[in-house]
Amino acid sequence: MTDDLPPMLELRGLGRRYGAAEVLRGLDLAVPRGSFTVVVGPSGCGKSTLLRLIAGLDAPSAGEILIDGTRVDRLPPAKRGVSMVFQSYALYPHMTVRRNIGFGLKIAGASDADIHARIARAADMLKIGELMDRKPAQLSGGQRQRVAIARAIVRDPKVFLFDEPLSNLDAALRAGTRVELAAMHAELGATIIHVTHDQVEAMTLADRLVVLNRGRIEQAGPPHDLYTRPGTLFVARFLGSPQMNVLTPASPTGQALARADDLPDGTAWIGIRPEDLAIAAPDAPDAVAAGRVAMIEELGDSRILHLRVDDGCDIVVRHHRTAPAPGSRIAVTARRGSLHPFAADERRLDSGRFSV
Ligand code: ADP
Ligand code: MG
Repeated sequence: MTDDLPPMLELRGLGRRYGAAEVLRGLDLAVPRGSFTVVVGPSGCGKSTLLRLIAGLDAPSAGEILIDGTRVDRLPPAKRGVSMVFQSYALYPHMTVRRNIGFGLKIAGASDADIHARIARAADMLKIGELMDRKPAQLSGGQRQRVAIARAIVRDPKVFLFDEPLSNLDAALRAGTRVELAAMHAELGATIIHVTHDQVEAMTLADRLVVLNRGRIEQAGPPHDLYTRPGTLFVARFLGSPQMNVLTPASPTGQALARADDLPDGTAWIGIRPEDLAIAAPDAPDAVAAGRVAMIEELGDSRILHLRVDDGCDIVVRHHRTAPAPGSRIAVTARRGSLHPFAADERRLDSGRFSV
């Protein structure tokens, strides 16, 4: 019964400080078996530090790390059952692709036949069979990244640790590789912890998303839940492009929104996503704001309108039809039930009315 098995990875009160700087603080997390968990957060929030602690390349200042139910935070890296793919790929420049992929297995004492079979399978999965005799300098960025992933796969780890493996790729390659990573995850049934600063990558890859901010977990859960019910103002702003609009209830637009959509007591911030606003005629009776179009970003399938509201605030609207010209006067309406209320401490104010 898989239900009786412990989580594949568990963090308990994990912390890391460097001198006075607390880089990770009190992380509690359980990663289920077979999960594609993505840790997302801005640059410098502690993502690489977290992976280095799990891999055993660095030691925690507080807390515990368990893999498959066993405490590993005092074990050497090779005994933990993890494989890490680094942002820089960290391939050995003087070795061929084949030797790069098989090197760790050789060190671990695997037989030549076993090494050969594992390399062949990984090469097939990542479609790098023709590259096996090349050296890293003779590969493109995307090919190097595949070799680095193949090197992780052959070790058959309990947990894969991916440190921004797509961030050195161009946009088209990144999108294609995202799809391949998802397929690889499905084929291997592996447990993956993938870190990235890119919220689109995070939303598309994750079955569980963990938002990290200044060394703390802001919120963890399925990506759709975090998007539709962000637990903090940070998560609300971090997920979604363009960003959620955030207004105070004291502003005229905030007051109009509050009238259109009852808000809980103690609301200090009102969030509304650009796709939950719609353009209306300047005299529309249910308008929540009116102003001038300051700028339009054309995205092909939709347009992002930047509106300078008469009360001086700026709001952003995603619009799917032909956009009004810059400078034109428009009003906007808000979809009912689409407001996100937050308290002064920036936590979501929960209320049944706001479930989406
Ligand atoms: P991320 O991967 O999210 O961009 P890092 O985990 O690399 O962030 O770094 C988090 C913070 O910890 C940064 O402020 C960084 O400067 C600091 N940091 C990382 N490693 C060390 C170290 N060895 N000594 C001191 N500070 C460090
Ligand atoms: Mg990093």
